[in-house]
Amino acid sequence: MHVELARHERSRRSGWRWAWLAAAVLLASLANATQPTAARVDRQRLLAADKEPGNWMAHGRTYSEQRFSPLERINDGNVAQLGLAWHARLDIDHGTEATPLVIDGVMYTTGARSIVYAFDARSGTLLWKYDPKVPGDRLGKGCCDIVNRGVAAWNGRIYFASFDGRLIALDARRGRKVWEVQTVDLKRSYTVTGAPRIVNGKVIIGNGGAEFGVRGYVTAYDARNGRQAWRFYTVPAGPAKPGDDAVTKMMAASWPAGAVWAFGGGGTVWDSMAYDPQLNLLYLGVGNASPWNRYVRNPGRGDNLFLSSIVALNADNGRYVWHYQTTPNEGWDYTATQHLILADLPLGEQMVPVIMQAPKNGFFYVLDRRNGKLVSAQPFSKVTWATHVDLATGRPVENPDVSDYSQQAKLTWPGPLGAHNWNPMAYSPRTGLVYIPEQEAPFPYINDPNARFNRRGWNTGVTLPPAPEDAASVAQMLQLFKGSLLAWDPVQQKPAWKVPYKSPGNGGLLATAGNLVFQGTADGRFVAYSADKGETLWQTDAQSGIVAAPISYAVDGEQYIAVMVGWGGGFPRYAGQIAAQNQVRTVSRVLVYKLGGSQVLPALAALAPADPPPPSTADAATIDRGRQLFSAHCSFCHGAAAVSGGSVPDLRRMSVATRQSFAGIVLGGLRLQAGMPAFAELLSLPDVEAINAYLVKRAHDEIAERVQQSSATP
Ligand code: CA
Repeated sequence: MHVELARHERSRRSGWRWAWLAAAVLLASLANATQPTAARVDRQRLLAADKEPGNWMAHGRTYSEQRFSPLERINDGNVAQLGLAWHARLDIDHGTEATPLVIDGVMYTTGARSIVYAFDARSGTLLWKYDPKVPGDRLGKGCCDIVNRGVAAWNGRIYFASFDGRLIALDARRGRKVWEVQTVDLKRSYTVTGAPRIVNGKVIIGNGGAEFGVRGYVTAYDARNGRQAWRFYTVPAGPAKPGDDAVTKMMAASWPAGAVWAFGGGGTVWDSMAYDPQLNLLYLGVGNASPWNRYVRNPGRGDNLFLSSIVALNADNGRYVWHYQTTPNEGWDYTATQHLILADLPLGEQMVPVIMQAPKNGFFYVLDRRNGKLVSAQPFSKVTWATHVDLATGRPVENPDVSDYSQQAKLTWPGPLGAHNWNPMAYSPRTGLVYIPEQEAPFPYINDPNARFNRRGWNTGVTLPPAPEDAASVAQMLQLFKGSLLAWDPVQQKPAWKVPYKSPGNGGLLATAGNLVFQGTADGRFVAYSADKGETLWQTDAQSGIVAAPISYAVDGEQYIAVMVGWGGGFPRYAGQIAAQNQVRTVSRVLVYKLGGSQVLPALAALAPADPPPPSTADAATIDRGRQLFSAHCSFCHGAAAVSGGSVPDLRRMSVATRQSFAGIVLGGLRLQAGMPAFAELLSLPDVEAINAYLVKRAHDEIAERVQQSSATP
């Protein structure tokens, strides 16, 4: 009896325990449904981001996109003790351009082919991975590598856009898809590489593709369900569809009669945006024209709004508020998609809310961000296409000796690489300086009367001339290509200090309250400088060229510096001769550093030796035809003069098997799934044979160069 009672009592208690447990689980799951447990980012938290400096919750850390970390445990006094805390290899070695987010101890970032990764930010343990499985036939639709610049976070979800234009919401805790929406017309060569921004519960995303021929726009979607909230087109629809509102009429009037519309006009917003919560203005950086060639596109010489402009929209409804056009009648790929920074600057007697940009065209702009009025503009790099920006009109004054390329080729600074490209700048409110990955890279623009336009390939209307091949000419050419880290005083509009680099294409910037600036370089180093003077305080070998911008975050009081590495993107892929000069490879990783970090990167495996090429038997005329065709159709991905930048196969080292199926690959799309488009509509079989003859010749050139180098080395 006694035993029976005890047993009954035990089972009664255990029954209660089960009931409590069930209730707790139910409550927890209810709480989960309404209260996300990861990436709980909202408007309030983003506006108060400085109160939690250990987190990096948005692309530029805050809506102002300053890329300034208030953390100062790592500073100019101790940065020499920085060491590797952890590293993680990404799935694909390609251009790696993402800015990671770190929220409450978890890092969310992206790699090539738009793959999303979540890591434990302290240990580097992979928590989850999401592969949107971009179809192979879309991979060849982009101008500038299969890159992705990062994710956005909002209310328990991670948002990103895939290369093929899908905006995808993931559950932040497990990386499972919640919803997905197609944001572009797949009949045109649209791609998406930029990071979304999230304002007031709306996810905003642009697109790219102006080199192929598309019409640019940005779209806002409801973060909860992916429903479209608004869409803003950056160029008019064409002469058949004149608008009736004042803004559309203003845009249309800037595209006078004769303008070429067939290629969409361009104006893609493929990277930069910023948001001012007080003004509720969303700022867009708008890209170049489709086609570049302004004599073909724009014989009436209109301004072609809103190409190469900064446009301010009401963030709630996407309505136009103001614009500032950096390059009217754009004709050089002078995008104004470059990084936009909001700050309050002491100008005259007062603090003025400004927006700052150093677009491709080489001028540093300070605008009043309330109304778009030009405050000042000065060249921050070598600029030959214009003499200055007129303060009264706000317009650049062209130098026709250089800017008129209608009749003959004009070597012009900057070229399409820009005096500054997408690689983010940083602004330190402590030093008052903007840190710019500045570069000099000229280009010989020529109005191509034989420009062939089509819907499948490159549509710039500007010929890409073959690059030099012999060592002396290559060295001479490379001397024209320079880079620097430039610390710019935006109030005085002049440099504060400058660190010269061997080459252009260096990484984005991070500034910290520890009087530090961090930057990765094209020659594979990750460097810390003092923010006030530009002294080199620490550097390390990253085993790959770096194009992305670093971030800083803290977990449990420990400060970390993180950077994505992986040499690639538009220019790095094309400029294989620069990668060869710098002796860098493309190795895609996340590298994370802390004081006293003691991890070591594993040594890289040596490159496998190439199969010997067949004898070069083609005549000089065939090889030269192959050279011209290669330059026009192949070089932008496979590298100028067939020297690969690292992320796409070097065709001088083709295997015997690849060479045997070369025509099938180029014309028939045998490697479509790897990202190699089919060129059947653009090239013939004799064309492909000429290209192959040229590549055989270049394979022999490389072997001869190696022999020469090894005999020159004592
Ligand atoms: Ca472009």
